[in-house]
Amino acid sequence: MDWTQSIVGLLGVVCLVAAAHADPPSIIDMHLHALAADGQGPPPVVVCAPYDSMPIREPGATIDSYAQSFLKKADCAHPIWSARDDDALRTESLAALRRYNIIAVTSGEPAMVKKWHEADPKRVIPAIMFGMSDAPSIASLRALHKAGMLKVIGEIGTQYDGVAPGDPRLEPYWELAEELDVPVGIHMGPGPPGAAYLGMTKYRMRLSDPLLLEDVLIRHPRLRLYVMHAGWPMIDRMVALLYAHPQVYVDVAVIDYTQPRSEFYLYLQRLIEAGYGKRVMFGSDQMVWPETIGLAIDAIQSAKFLTEDQKRDILHDNAARFLRWNEAPSR
Ligand SMILES: [Zn+2]
Repeated sequence: MDWTQSIVGLLGVVCLVAAAHADPPSIIDMHLHALAADGQGPPPVVVCAPYDSMPIREPGATIDSYAQSFLKKADCAHPIWSARDDDALRTESLAALRRYNIIAVTSGEPAMVKKWHEADPKRVIPAIMFGMSDAPSIASLRALHKAGMLKVIGEIGTQYDGVAPGDPRLEPYWELAEELDVPVGIHMGPGPPGAAYLGMTKYRMRLSDPLLLEDVLIRHPRLRLYVMHAGWPMIDRMVALLYAHPQVYVDVAVIDYTQPRSEFYLYLQRLIEAGYGKRVMFGSDQMVWPETIGLAIDAIQSAKFLTEDQKRDILHDNAARFLRWNEAPSR
């Protein structure tokens, strides 16, 4: 071996080492939250990822006893415990973004979102989460937008207030989203199992019906709207909305790690088989459980019925198109 060969050989090793450390392909998470660590109750609280069988509530059980049995007992094969405090939740969530090379639409209260955005401005895309009871003024949303801190309006969580998307009180928000040309995400689907018995007394499952969005979409044809949680479990009505309103996208947040894997796959496969593989976007909805981000990604990557192209669509390309980032792929 002469020197030239040695140098070529050395370069090969360097290249291999570089390849081994290359970032994984980028992922867009359409549904991350910047929450306080007690956002789901005093930590630590547990989530099953997934639930092997859904919780049973003893009729007449108090909120407290049901919450204790549901949030404090790891009654499943894969329990995930929440981060211990606000700093741990932020740093562990942001570490997961780096590990999996994720850029995440991140919603919460504006002050908390700002803190997360400052900690990692390249990966945290600022959004706002609100319900009817804590709905921000239109003026405050305009100010956030002007400051570059409102890239997505949502998660809109008015289902927890028993308020349907067509309620007149939401009309100013749809108008604003259309005027500012900002994408909107609305929660339609599951709360925690038995949400109405966990203090969310106004939550109604029937408001998961995606067809409740029809009149909003007709009134606001320029809305860039995505249905968070894909309206689970109302698959027929979700397919109906996607068919009739070809501008609508969905995310599969939370159902990708909480639902039994077979149920999640039935739901996702139905969306794909029905022809909407270009409008399904990845979301984690990690809330207070940073470890669920990786589990949610794994649920997509392990789906045998998806081609590699379909996985890329879900994990990145569909969201890039929806967010109109295609012109700037480095974002
Ligand atoms: Zn949600």
